[in-house]
Amino acid sequence: MRALLQAASRGEDLDLNGVTALLEARGAELAELVSLADAVRQAQVGDTVTYVVNRNINFTNVCVKSCRFCAFARGFRSEEGYRLTVAQVADRAREAADLGATEVCLQAGLAPELDGAAYVRLCAAVQAAAPGLSIHGFSPEELLYGARRSGWTVHSLLEELVAVGLSSIPGTSAEILVDEVRRQLAPGRLSTAEWCDVVRTAHGLGLPSSATLMYGHIETARHRAQHLLVLRSLQAETGGFTELVPLSFVWSEAPLWRQQLAPGVRAGPTQDETRALFAVSRLVLGAHIPHLQVSWVKEGLARAGELLRCGADDLGGTLMNESISVSAGAAHGQLATPRDLRGVARAVGRLPAERSTDYRVLRRFDTDADAEEQGLDDLDAISDADARFGSYAGLVAAARG
Ligand code: SF4
Repeated sequence: MRALLQAASRGEDLDLNGVTALLEARGAELAELVSLADAVRQAQVGDTVTYVVNRNINFTNVCVKSCRFCAFARGFRSEEGYRLTVAQVADRAREAADLGATEVCLQAGLAPELDGAAYVRLCAAVQAAAPGLSIHGFSPEELLYGARRSGWTVHSLLEELVAVGLSSIPGTSAEILVDEVRRQLAPGRLSTAEWCDVVRTAHGLGLPSSATLMYGHIETARHRAQHLLVLRSLQAETGGFTELVPLSFVWSEAPLWRQQLAPGVRAGPTQDETRALFAVSRLVLGAHIPHLQVSWVKEGLARAGELLRCGADDLGGTLMNESISVSAGAAHGQLATPRDLRGVARAVGRLPAERSTDYRVLRRFDTDADAEEQGLDDLDAISDADARFGSYAGLVAAARG
């Protein structure tokens, strides 16, 4: 362990066995690992903690797939399936811009009526409604689905989307980039090679993406290590990843857990696993992918602060309408206000800053006093968000009639 930590602190690229061993560190070794990751984070990106003011628009929960970890999707015959119209999506984008958002994130289920042209229409409507918003949209799974349904290549779909305003893509639908795990988590989901191909194509067109990793279900430390090395190698090729977002498995409503659909399903990661994953992600990827994001949706604001001390430097977005984790049983609400996120950063002695999707700092908040009120700061995230923005439960209830 000492040799591995020394190699990591010298910036050496560790191999699969080394990364796996670090992920399994516990006790005093884990404390040492975390402390090193925090120092490396400070050296690589300083003490600023960033967030983006954004809105999620999960425009339908209807999906032709049945990923076992997903509690959000409904089958196309389900009475609980909702679909936002193009006009409703555009209205949500306009409202987000009015509230100070700089980004809208478009992701949804794979509804049977969707195809590449439908994604292009959505993107164009958002751009027309709120031309200043950065459109971060469509997972690799959605891009592959849209392209296939239209008989297009992913490259040509992405070109069409860029022409109507798409500026980056979320690196979701990754879970664990090891096919033996993917087959158990979600039979029929895109493969590791397909995920990498879609992301490679996006990066080749100048579209940056995030990278994600979902953990705490059936995977082992070695699988997590394999995933990190897939990302490291793809980043060496394209340079297009902006950040890694580790996502802990939200288990309570997930079919994978409720119906025990795979052997050895766990109820999410332990706290030690989470701390080790963040620290190792910083050490293994920090020189290649500079930013490491904590998902407050998965972890809650209090734990998010703790993980900022384990190598992370970004708190993600305000989201306004988080539906996917909420439907899986996450209890942290669907909105974090900018003030909430600044508070998390300050509570651990760091400097909050609002960023753009591509990590340009837009506003620094060196003291509490310089934080001008933003529209979203007028809200109480927990009690006002559903009334102000509508909720996932409300959409499902309305669909049910
Ligand atoms: S994870 Fe995405 S593709 Fe899979 S079932 Fe859920 S909405 Fe559908």
